[in-house]
Amino acid sequence: MARIGIMGGTFNPIHTGHLMLAEWAREGAELDEVWFIPTGTTYMKASLESASAAAGMPGRERLHMACLAVEDNPAFHCLDLEVQREGRTYTYETLEQLKERYPGDEFFFITGADCLFSIENWRYPQRIFQCCTLIAAVRGEYTLPRMEEKKRELEMSLGRVILLPFPAVDISSTEIRRRIRQGRSVRYLVPDRVLDYIKEKGFYREESI
Ligand code: ATP
Ligand code: MG
Repeated sequence: MARIGIMGGTFNPIHTGHLMLAEWAREGAELDEVWFIPTGTTYMKASLESASAAAGMPGRERLHMACLAVEDNPAFHCLDLEVQREGRTYTYETLEQLKERYPGDEFFFITGADCLFSIENWRYPQRIFQCCTLIAAVRGEYTLPRMEEKKRELEMSLGRVILLPFPAVDISSTEIRRRIRQGRSVRYLVPDRVLDYIKEKGFYREESI
């Protein structure tokens, strides 16, 4: 029985913060592997920030960048099952699909602190927690006491939560897209291979992406 971490995200683009989070979770929760699963049509982002985020960047390109980012790490893999799915992407569906396909494995859904506070509003949170343990890393403005309180609350209603000590890494895809638009450097914020691909394709230079 393997312990598998799942890193979901828009990954538009994937960045060092995502990779560090996966690595910290792998070590902290003694995971055998971490699978990166870029979202397909993200209903949350599509509605919240339709002009930016994933809206203008095809799933296959976000997937390709994620694959480039993890290819040198034998414990990290990249899966296309959300990008391939028609229609909206829901985390519960992905986890149920994985559970069914790999019934012997134990799944851990890895997120930043922001998701700890929003997961109750995702589609069918009970079904998400039935399939996995949530790993939430300290991120941004969320303090550990607040996260501990939220963990207790979620554990009484939904399921298991692991809080992951994580250094503050103030990197976001939004900031990366903004820097590229402004003609500034994102070297070291994304892996070199991803940087080369972004440059080659001219991604993020236009407002709409
Ligand atoms: P965007 O700015 O477009 O929202 P993002 O940088 O937040 O992008 P996502 O693809 O939305 O990246 O995030 C995927 C997952 O990675 C989420 O669980 C998010 O909380 C987490 N994450 C992203 N960046 C960091 C970071 N710097 N530190 C900790 N967790 C992070
Ligand atoms: Mg985000």
